[in-house]
Amino acid sequence: MTDVDESSKAAKRNRSQSSVAVRNFIGGRFTAAASGTTIPDIEPGTGEVMASVPDSDERDIENAVSAARQAFRAWSNTPAAERSAMLLRLGDLIEGNLEELARLEARDGGKPISLARRLDIPRAAANFRFFATAILHQSTEAHSTDGTALNYTLRQPVGVAGLISPWNLPLYLLSWKIAPAIAAGNTCVAKPSEFTPLTAHRLAELSLEAEIPPGVINIVHGHGQKAGRALVRHPDVPLLSFTGGTVTGAGVAANAAPMFKKLSLELGGKNPNILFADADLEEAIATSIRSSFWNQGEICLCGSRIFVERAVFDAFLDGFVEATKRLRVGDPLDETTDVGALISEAHLQKVSGYLEIAQKEGGTIHTGGKRVDRPGFFVEPTVITGLSCDSDVLQDEIFGPVVTVTPFDSEEEALALANGTRYGLSATVWTRDLRRAHRVAAALDSGTVWINCWLLRDLRVPFGGMKESGVGREGGFESLNFFTEPKNVCVKL
Ligand code: NAD
Repeated sequence: MTDVDESSKAAKRNRSQSSVAVRNFIGGRFTAAASGTTIPDIEPGTGEVMASVPDSDERDIENAVSAARQAFRAWSNTPAAERSAMLLRLGDLIEGNLEELARLEARDGGKPISLARRLDIPRAAANFRFFATAILHQSTEAHSTDGTALNYTLRQPVGVAGLISPWNLPLYLLSWKIAPAIAAGNTCVAKPSEFTPLTAHRLAELSLEAEIPPGVINIVHGHGQKAGRALVRHPDVPLLSFTGGTVTGAGVAANAAPMFKKLSLELGGKNPNILFADADLEEAIATSIRSSFWNQGEICLCGSRIFVERAVFDAFLDGFVEATKRLRVGDPLDETTDVGALISEAHLQKVSGYLEIAQKEGGTIHTGGKRVDRPGFFVEPTVITGLSCDSDVLQDEIFGPVVTVTPFDSEEEALALANGTRYGLSATVWTRDLRRAHRVAAALDSGTVWINCWLLRDLRVPFGGMKESGVGREGGFESLNFFTEPKNVCVKL
């Protein structure tokens, strides 16, 4: 028997578990939605229902906000060192349950289990540990005003934080919000994506084990248009951290605006990956395979527009297409899978629509270009050349395993092409020329620029997007600043 046979058998064993009934987590208790109805949670790798999700509405949000408000005073007065210890425990519990959480994430979101093990779950644990420590080092400023007054700044928690997260990195991004929010002394109501509720449900259980007091973390599941919208519009939620699509983000901003809520929006991207002729081609190809196809291209930071200096265009394309062909598309629970399933049939149809546009517009598809003929929502990793940069394929966020490769002749042209979208989330630049690296980094419309790397993250750095990729920054002290309100106190001497 081959290794591949063994791992697909193991994948089947991993799936032989009964379907999960996800519940809301409000005031430390698990409850059904007030509506009494549920939403089916479909497993992308099989297309079958694997769990039921509470179909929550404004009544559940009301209960959760009320629980969070009740818990706020005690939690915000808990010494930072005690809050920190609880967050550290939660980080340890996530790590201690890594295998189970990785399996849940792979089944729920369609991502390869190897990626969930390597990226999603360790980073969720790291988020709790990082903010547990960061809160102990947050400092504020004081100014003596010509000997006549002393000014100092208090950084106070805001109250109940509303946290809305997407399906592509479910626990990773949920913890990216919950950890700084509660570390800073807020309580929270989180609304995970209705497509991927399972690790959020498990996180709620682990928060009880970590002895985080009831009401500090509340999780309400359900549709964005119902539960999410109610959270955004709730008058007792003064702060919202939202990660999701740009169109949804615009709606969140519009609903929040009349109440002047503090807002952080982490939105979509259409990120450039720029390769100059002097780059290390081998390393650039290996990393570009990850930045193109990791998580099926469903990472906001994926570099879906590759621009290559003409002198090395053919060499890059040959190597890149060959490496793409070697990727194994398959069962997310299979240990040997490189590319799993897209999140849903609807999303697969959206991605397929762009493959049709590419064909209609005369693009050359070097590999991929089709749905994979098996149950579930699989698309072949696809490499396209020959499209105009005005094409929707190069302008819209496809959020799938589809990249374009386009030649350029000068640094100036590369910058114009890279900046020629409405997005500005991240960019990668490949070059050995130090001066050019810094020059190009400064000129890119992008919240993050990676030089000769991709997704190398340091949690201390600011993270966020320009243009339609978002408003505000999170990460490190940017997050702690966002989740607190600065108050100036002026004492006359
Ligand atoms: P989405 O916008 O459809 O949903 C995100 C969340 O918002 C979900 O929990 C959803 O239920 C909720 N929601 C939907 N409508 C709502 C409404 N009217 N009011 C309040 N909440 C609502 O996004 P998605 O499809 O889940 O995720 C993919 C998108 O997220 C991509 O565009 C991707 O680029 C983006 N993303 C951005 C980042 C970043 O850091 N910038 C990170 C990950 C994903």
